[in-house]
Amino acid sequence: MRRCEYCLALEAFSPGGYCIEHVLPVAAGGDSDPENLAFACAGCNAHKSDKTAAVDPVTRRSFRLFHPRRDRWARHFAWSADTFHVDGITGIGRASVLALKLNRPALVNLRRLLLREGLHPPVP
Ligand SMILES: [Zn+2]
Repeated sequence: MRRCEYCLALEAFSPGGYCIEHVLPVAAGGDSDPENLAFACAGCNAHKSDKTAAVDPVTRRSFRLFHPRRDRWARHFAWSADTFHVDGITGIGRASVLALKLNRPALVNLRRLLLREGLHPPVP
């Protein structure tokens, strides 16, 4: 089953459409080379928009956002103890959690339901 490469939500259980998005936005000079494309849910795509960086709330420094082609998800993110929230474990991870709102209420609710069905948490 296909998942958003940012929040890892399953396409099959998400009512919003998914898209192929530009990791480095076209507005920032990104091209359509496969190295710059990612599969994203509508929420992550909308919140990411043309952002390329965000502030890490812990260090208050600006970090580039997570890059699905170049970064490993588990290097920058981990599931909370109850697995309903994505925790950033690096500056890039924390900045990306905030910028893309990876713990939107609907995502948390979906994770709760999918846990009951044995479909969450995914193994990144
Ligand atoms: Zn997503």
